[in-house]
Amino acid sequence: MNYDLIVIGGGSGGVRAARIAAGYGAKVALIEEYRLGGTCVIRGCVPKKLMVYASRFAIEFEESRGYGWIMDELRFDWATLVKNRDQEVDRLEKVYRGNLEKSGVHIFEGHARLVDANTVVVDEKDKLSAKTLLIATGAQPVTDTRVRGHELCIDSNEFFKLPTQPKRVVVQGSGYIALELACVLHHLGSEVHLVYRSDLVLRGFDEELRHQLTEELKLSGMRLHQGQLIANVTKGPQELEIRLDNGMALKADVVLKAIGRKPNTENLGLEELGVELNDQGAIAVNEWSQTNLPNVYAVGDVTNRVNLTPMAIREGHAFADNVFGGKAITVNHGLVPTAVFTTPELGTVGLTEEQALALYPRLDIYKSSFRPLKATVSGHTSRTFFKLLVNRDNDEIVGFHSIGPDTGEMSQLIGIALQMKATKAAFDATLAVHPTAAEELVTMRSPSMQHGL
Ligand code: FAD
Ligand code: NDP
Repeated sequence: MNYDLIVIGGGSGGVRAARIAAGYGAKVALIEEYRLGGTCVIRGCVPKKLMVYASRFAIEFEESRGYGWIMDELRFDWATLVKNRDQEVDRLEKVYRGNLEKSGVHIFEGHARLVDANTVVVDEKDKLSAKTLLIATGAQPVTDTRVRGHELCIDSNEFFKLPTQPKRVVVQGSGYIALELACVLHHLGSEVHLVYRSDLVLRGFDEELRHQLTEELKLSGMRLHQGQLIANVTKGPQELEIRLDNGMALKADVVLKAIGRKPNTENLGLEELGVELNDQGAIAVNEWSQTNLPNVYAVGDVTNRVNLTPMAIREGHAFADNVFGGKAITVNHGLVPTAVFTTPELGTVGLTEEQALALYPRLDIYKSSFRPLKATVSGHTSRTFFKLLVNRDNDEIVGFHSIGPDTGEMSQLIGIALQMKATKAAFDATLAVHPTAAEELVTMRSPSMQHGL
């Protein structure tokens, strides 16, 4: 069968590219080996966020007591959550299929392998050909096979299949996934031990934010084992026995490893075809998402640029616009609003303080750390933290970092302001919405610190 475009992978990037290309009149085939929707819909953002919501009721119920609510019996049922979550995921998968079909995209189910720069086989049976190929195969969790007992551990894919709630869990890692899933389990009532090799969680984020989040996690009662690796895992009579590098022994029902993800480049025929990978094993692409073979493109996690759903979607859309819509559009990988759905949540956009200082030595830093109004009556101890970084030379806000309720939502809106190159003066001129937490952002009058005076 002959197509204008073959897309490999029905996740965030692939689906968007297929639909937009079809909209321009291209004859498109999309091949998916697991489930339409990809990581985000099936075993990532969506089911994760539903579980985050579930876990936060625990705090809401606790806080409600100070407001006069009396709750005699509270019980959480894991099976109900899993059933309802999976129903929603199934529904979304159908929506993805329906939208692709409505756009006229031909869907093939099976494993795709490139035979040459114009030909792909599905499950070694159906042979499809096209002028243009797009690889959008995503990424998968990595395992560290050097750790004895690694096969007894689970990863994020298996987390979403847990039939019962583990009572005791060891989570390894301190990136997005480890922290989000550790918080989910902790607030749902599991005993959670977080084992991570660095001093602070969330490498790559603003240092102060990393400190604040580490403190908040400790305050929440989660047990943190910083600067530690898992030395080995063995199966005891009733539970798993975990030995840390420092000799400490832990027991758990589940060991969840979230130690990074690797691009899905294997068994695709890339080596045979000479498609170049970069030094991290991702498909190397130029600003047009084009590989070293001119008609073969790649978008999303398989290129390991910014591994977030909105970026995969944006790259897929831009690819289709360029190749099938005649529009020369490139993607800005620089200004990325992002949230980490820990509890408390973290929202950020723009430069970290460390990055900002390197570029703008005359930097003003505005900070606010406060107990949210709601907590004054509920007694909740968590604090909200905001930080704005301002380039004193032109008053432009170059970074926003925050921890607290709804800061993910805030980072989306502050992202627009930063995209528009908003100045601190514009923030100051904006009237506060009272009483809110976000009003602090327009009422920070004097800098907490000034660099380069
Ligand atoms: P994917 O969505 O992974 O899609 C790739 C598809 O290709 C898959 O369906 C796969 O089955 C298929 N495939 C692979 N190889 C083949 C083959 N040879 N033949 C046929 N099909 C193939 N991002 C956010 O922005 N916000 C979040 O809150 C968030 N939470 C996350 C939580 C978790 C637990 C995880 C794991 C990720 C999360 N992410 C989040 C990241 C986000 O899911 C990814 O960045 C996004 O899904 C990448 O899209 P993609 O199209 O590149 O790949
Ligand atoms: P990350 O890269 O964010 O974190 C990996 C973690 O594993 C780090 O703490 C790292 O430690 C640690 N690590 C790496 N190798 C080892 C090892 N051999 N032994 C012990 N620890 C190790 O990856 P994730 O898997 O958490 O997430 C992948 C990506 O998915 C994210 O980067 C993000 O782009 C996306 N995502 C986005 C979400 C969101 O938007 N809310 C949610 C979930 C995922 P160290 O810090 O010391 O290097």
